[in-house]
Amino acid sequence: MAWREAMCGELRAGDAGRRVTVAGWADTRRDFGGLVFVDLRDHTGKLQLVINPEHSSAAAAVAHEIRNEFVLQASGEVLARAPETVNPNLPTGQIEVQVDELRILSRSTALPFQLDEENVEETIRLRYRWLDMRTERMQRNLRLNHTAISAIRRVMDERGFVDVWTPSMTRGTPEGARDFLLPVRLQPGKFFALAQSPQLFKQLCMVGGIDRYYQIATCWRDEDLRADRQFEFRQLDLEMAFVEREDVLDVMEACVVGAFEVAGVEPPPRPFPRLVYDDVLLRFGSDKPDLRFGLEIQDATEVTRESEFGVFKNAPCVRYVVVPRTFSRSEQARLEEVAKEWGAKGLANLTQISKFLSEPELQAFGVEEGSTALFVADEEAVVARVLGLLRLHLAHELDLIDASLDVFHWVTDFPLFEHSEEYGGWTFMHHPFTATVPSEEQRIESDPEHVRGQHYDLIWNGWELGSGSIRIHEAEVQQAVFRVMGMGEEEQRDKFGFLLDALQMGAPPHGGFAMGIDRFIALLAREPDIRQVTAFPKIASGADPLTGAPTPYPDSALKELGIRLLDPQPE
Ligand code: ASP
Repeated sequence: MAWREAMCGELRAGDAGRRVTVAGWADTRRDFGGLVFVDLRDHTGKLQLVINPEHSSAAAAVAHEIRNEFVLQASGEVLARAPETVNPNLPTGQIEVQVDELRILSRSTALPFQLDEENVEETIRLRYRWLDMRTERMQRNLRLNHTAISAIRRVMDERGFVDVWTPSMTRGTPEGARDFLLPVRLQPGKFFALAQSPQLFKQLCMVGGIDRYYQIATCWRDEDLRADRQFEFRQLDLEMAFVEREDVLDVMEACVVGAFEVAGVEPPPRPFPRLVYDDVLLRFGSDKPDLRFGLEIQDATEVTRESEFGVFKNAPCVRYVVVPRTFSRSEQARLEEVAKEWGAKGLANLTQISKFLSEPELQAFGVEEGSTALFVADEEAVVARVLGLLRLHLAHELDLIDASLDVFHWVTDFPLFEHSEEYGGWTFMHHPFTATVPSEEQRIESDPEHVRGQHYDLIWNGWELGSGSIRIHEAEVQQAVFRVMGMGEEEQRDKFGFLLDALQMGAPPHGGFAMGIDRFIALLAREPDIRQVTAFPKIASGADPLTGAPTPYPDSALKELGIRLLDPQPE
């Protein structure tokens, strides 16, 4: 006999009279001494089993032994429930199965938590993830993960993309994070890095004539874990030859919309708005602004150049946001405290400083009754950052965000380089393989500060979903970028000789993108963090509560790898 011949959640009134065999987990058991009711659950839903000793004494004997999460197999007839016992909250609520054969296929020890228990500590959920996975939430999320990825694969297929597997064990890839290192027994003292992304391999695929590459690629980055970050994660990684930016954006939008459609969520209208980096920084104080609400930042630097108010007059940059309400003194003081924590020297409220301002200044700000203008005066970067954070903070505090909105947009035209505090020189903004906007290539070395890259980010409700760019496809240009980053000829050859060689052997113009799949699915599932859509994630300390990894290894194993620890092994 088959283990099961019907799925629990799929039986309906029309099945009444059918004989079925179902199998699954005992969700709940209600034992009335004689009559026993069991809700049997599989991934399709729950089904009420009725075990009546008058109908089958053997089944009744088994039923009394059942505890939550036992695995059962039951056979019997589907019966229509009497009208007063219909459960309108259950899709199978119009029927039940009158059991005549019942087997316990597997038992369960006492559970560390009940599946319907709320607020179970996450470490416990992850330690017993196989139980947690049985909850409706995890079932829904893991299945959504699958259907969304299938939809994306369909889009890639239709557009002629080829799934090429690239190695995880490679040289360090400069994506801006630390590498995970892998010691090599055959070559003690040498290490592979786990790929931070397939960036250079996918570019080499373009040189290799693949034309349209994609992969649901696992990437490894040694960074602190957060709501949207795990050490290892997957991205939809793609690369296209003979394309321009718009071609890449078009494919990505099709993937997003395809995934929304299979998830049954209203997709965002296309094309997604394209916003320019300088502009979003000015208006929203962030390169990944949440556009579900206004509170746009306004510039007042010019208007206040000649101000009587010294704080404004002497600051390199003065900007403000207008908030549609007024604040009490203590509320204002609290906001100022927060702004100071973000690095502001102060947070001026127009009402409090208006006596220092001229009529033209006051008119320029155009603040209506019942609204408040809050100013920050400082270096431009500080002003942008503080007002950007303040904008978000106020939107949450004042409940200005419509959570039902899904606002997607692109940010384009990022600077190619940014100044590195750490190295004191120029470093890449995206990665060093990003091309400049076409007219600015000549200025890479002469004016690195102002050169813009053909780099674009995709943002959803203030979350950065991913990045991409049109790449450099000429070795000389690539070398110019390396030189700006302070990399001499020898270091270039040592680290990127293979790329430079490839770029000299017929590299087509190309560009691509990578979107964090887990982050995307978490947002699609309306989950607050990617752990809820990942089968076996790690916790913030970087540990896996389920297997207990990472673990120490005996000295003998390390010796084989040519490794000796500085500190003794923890017990
Ligand atoms: N390799 C980049 C990343 O992982 C994406 C890209 O430029 O295609 O963020």
